[in-house]
Amino acid sequence: MRLGVGAALVDGTLVPGDVEVADGKIAAVGLESANGAGIASPGFVDLQVNGFAGVDFFGADTDGYGRAGKGLLECGVTSYQPTFITSPEEQLVAALAEVPVNGAAPRVLGAHLEGPFISPERLGTHPADARRDPDRALLERLLAAGPVSHVTLAPELPGALELVELLRERGVTVSCGHSDATAAEAREAFARGVKTVTHIFNAMRPFAAREPGLAGAALVTSDVVVQLILDGVHLAEDTARLVWQVAGGRVALVTDAIAAAHVGDGAYTIAGVEFEVEDGVARNADRVLAGSTVCMIDAVRNLVALGASVEAALSAASALPAQIAGRPDLGTLAPGSVADVVMLDDSLEIRRVLVRGEDALD
Ligand code: ZN
Repeated sequence: MRLGVGAALVDGTLVPGDVEVADGKIAAVGLESANGAGIASPGFVDLQVNGFAGVDFFGADTDGYGRAGKGLLECGVTSYQPTFITSPEEQLVAALAEVPVNGAAPRVLGAHLEGPFISPERLGTHPADARRDPDRALLERLLAAGPVSHVTLAPELPGALELVELLRERGVTVSCGHSDATAAEAREAFARGVKTVTHIFNAMRPFAAREPGLAGAALVTSDVVVQLILDGVHLAEDTARLVWQVAGGRVALVTDAIAAAHVGDGAYTIAGVEFEVEDGVARNADRVLAGSTVCMIDAVRNLVALGASVEAALSAASALPAQIAGRPDLGTLAPGSVADVVMLDDSLEIRRVLVRGEDALD
C-alpha cells in the first residue's frame, strides 16, 4: 500500500517521496510520486497519560481503555504509557492489573508509575498521605502487579539510588521528578543511569543562581532527555523557549493528560483527587495545576510556534519518547520499522493514522 505522501520523517530527517507499507511494516521510503501530499510521521508516543476522553485510568476497564485509546489516536498517539500518580498500594495494584498488555491500538507500552517515592516538598497535586520513602519491598510488589515500564522518583530520597539500580536491572525506565534534588544529587542519579526527567521545571526545585537543581543539571547534561509539557500553561513561553534553545533535539513532549482531555471543562477526579477544569486548565481545590488537557498534535504545533522545525517537533513527539520507552523502532519510518504512522497535511492537521499498517481512525 502506498500512502500518497510527499515526504516521510526518517530518523529526524524529512525524506522526500512516497512511502510503501507492507505486512504492517515500512517497506520503502523516498519513492517517486507525481502527486504525493503532506508528511508521514512516526506515530506519536506519549510517556505520561493519566486519562483521556473522559476516562481516568485509575478504575478503567477494557471499555475505558478503548474509549481513551480512540481519543488518543485522534490526536496522533499510536503508543502511550497509562500513568498512575502517587496512591495507596491497593489502588495502584488494582489499576496495574487492568493495564492492557497485547494487541491494543494505540499500543500500551506498559505503565508509568509517577510516585509514590517522591519528595514531600514537591508533591504538586499528589496526595501526601500516599507518598512513601523508597521501599524496595513495596516496589517489588508494584512491579509484580502489572506491566510497569517507567517509574518517576525523587533521587535524593534515602535509598532511591538502590531502587534506580533495581529498576534498571528489570529494564524499567527511571525518570527523576517530583524532586527537591540539588544539581549534585541529580548528577549522581544521571551517573547511575537515569537518562530522563519528568515534566521539567514542574514539581522540582526551582533553578537558582548557585543551585540550579534537577532542572539545571538536566538541561546541561547532553545525554539526558527532558520531558516537556507544552500546553501553554505549565511553562511560561520563555521558559519553554529556554528549554528548547538549550536542549532542542533531546526534548520529549508529554501531555500529562487527564480525563478531561478531548472532552471539555467540568469537574473530574484523578485517583480520587477532585479538580476543576476551566478553559482547559485543570486545578485542584488549592489551585495547583493537575495535569493538562493538551492533545499531542497541539503540543507539536506549540513547539513549531516556539521556533522548532517541523521535523524537530515531530521527532520530539515520536523518536525521543520512543527512545526513552526503550522502543526506538517506534520512532522512525526507516524501512523495516513498524508502520505506526501519522499522516499530516501542510498545516499539521491529522489526516490518517495507522497502527501496525492498519487504519486506526474510522
Ligand atoms: Zn507530575
